[in-house]
Amino acid sequence: MPRSTPALVAGAALLVALAGCKPTESNELKAIIGAVLINGTGGPPISDSVVVVAGNRIRAAGSRADVPIPQAAEKVNGAGKFLVPGLIDLHVHLGTLAGPEYKPADYTRERIEENLNTYLYFGVTTVRSIGTDREAGFAVRNAERSGKLFTARMFTAGRGFTAPGGHPSQEVGDIARQVATPEEARRQVDELASQQVDAIKIWVDDLHGKQPKIKPAVMEAILEEARKFNIPVTCHIATLEDVQFLVKNGAAGFLHMISDTENLDPDFLAELRNLQLVFAPTLVRKELGWLFQQHPELLSDPDLKRSVDGDILSAVRSYLAAHPFQGVPPEFQTDLRNTRRMADAGVPIGVGSDGGSAIDFPGLMTHRELELLVEAGLSPMQVIVAATRTGALALRRLDELGTVEPGKRADLLLLDANPTEDVRNLRKIDRIMLDGEWVDRDGLKLH
Ligand SMILES: [Zn+2]
Repeated sequence: MPRSTPALVAGAALLVALAGCKPTESNELKAIIGAVLINGTGGPPISDSVVVVAGNRIRAAGSRADVPIPQAAEKVNGAGKFLVPGLIDLHVHLGTLAGPEYKPADYTRERIEENLNTYLYFGVTTVRSIGTDREAGFAVRNAERSGKLFTARMFTAGRGFTAPGGHPSQEVGDIARQVATPEEARRQVDELASQQVDAIKIWVDDLHGKQPKIKPAVMEAILEEARKFNIPVTCHIATLEDVQFLVKNGAAGFLHMISDTENLDPDFLAELRNLQLVFAPTLVRKELGWLFQQHPELLSDPDLKRSVDGDILSAVRSYLAAHPFQGVPPEFQTDLRNTRRMADAGVPIGVGSDGGSAIDFPGLMTHRELELLVEAGLSPMQVIVAATRTGALALRRLDELGTVEPGKRADLLLLDANPTEDVRNLRKIDRIMLDGEWVDRDGLKLH
């Protein structure tokens, strides 16, 4: 056989393969050239970078010397700008107006989409909606995931578990699964599994003894049943003892921070680190007890006005006038210090805002949480990693989200200022790319 034959055969096969598919958007190449790349891994920023996107994936990312720029690519000049992965918020509640009043009737498909658009507007390209989603939420999640809906990526835990009468049923009623027995808990985990939830939520909090707390035997049943389906269980917590119990029984992650003690045993912290259990301290939710009273100017933030209905902002102003600043509870300092202790011990810290709950405004409060993590003592670079790579770790999607590396989905923020100098620069967004497409930020319907 002539030596050239195999190559000819391969060439012919390739022609046949190409003949069957016309060029589509998924083949499009884009190159962002000259930005400082902060890729989400925590490694040193790469100045004068090139990032090549093919379809919805990152094909190459590195310094200009190492990454060739394809001739056919749409070229975007990133000189003087900063490129980071899209942000991930691990703790949101979709389908609310975000105001002083919670109304189940607000939970519509349209509102959920508007909430997701709002996160996207703020550069949050992925959210985990954790504990309050019903039918409409699953419909939106499925539409987004199958490519029928272009908005922030949505992960959902469906409806979460609490004790009968436990937190947060005083706010959301029977949207929380108020479960009294292990048998009932198992049955309801099976139901969540059939809904293909991305996580399961348990509220483990008696609000300083004021509410019933879910029983240990019920939690054990939830964790054991969830393990059968390989569904990660993420828990709202407040005390060290509860975290220890939940770690022992296989919980995958935590929302809020240990608030009842600062006596965190180094061996326990090492265990959390080794198990790579992500904490999303959600500091901002507590701070909302006084944030706007202390800083009323925040209510005039142009992006807040853009993203929240004027009537809601008026209602929030009235609510705040009736709830004057009472001083910062000492517990908040405990949360900040424990967050720092955990970060120093190598426990993965993620970003959660609780956006959508009460006056916790979607997107804007995600950014406030980033500032509070810096206040707790994390460096801006640590906070960027928390908001990107660690988010993907918590979602079990490190293979496709969270960093700017070859093979990952192209969720990117091009910024006008350096976020490693000041995390508030993560709001100075020039352009957003989601799944390889530039987002029409001004065209997003937010409310
Ligand atoms: Zn929450």
